[in-house]
Amino acid sequence: MHLTLYRDHCWHHLSACEECFADFLRNGEIPARGCLSNVIDDGAPELVVKVLSGDHVGTLVITERNRDRIIHEGWTKFVRLTPRRTGPNARAKSESSENDEPHPSA
Ligand SMILES: [Zn+2]
Repeated sequence: MHLTLYRDHCWHHLSACEECFADFLRNGEIPARGCLSNVIDDGAPELVVKVLSGDHVGTLVITERNRDRIIHEGWTKFVRLTPRRTGPNARAKSESSENDEPHPSA
């Protein structure tokens, strides 16, 4: 399963955001807090979470092995946020991937 965590859409403190994400890992229900969306169930056993925070981006891969630790220690310890690339190569890449995805407003 893939999903995106938008820190910018979440009005909670980071610690509260870690907790609602832990709740999601426990019961599988997307919390109605606006920060988790773009859920795509591709049938894969692992959960791939793209984290967007301001102009930083990171990826968190959750498997049965690290799931409990993420629930107890919080997702922020397991994802390394790096500045989003704005070079010409990165832009061409993101443009092509945007075209591949259905646009929610369309
Ligand atoms: Zn949140």
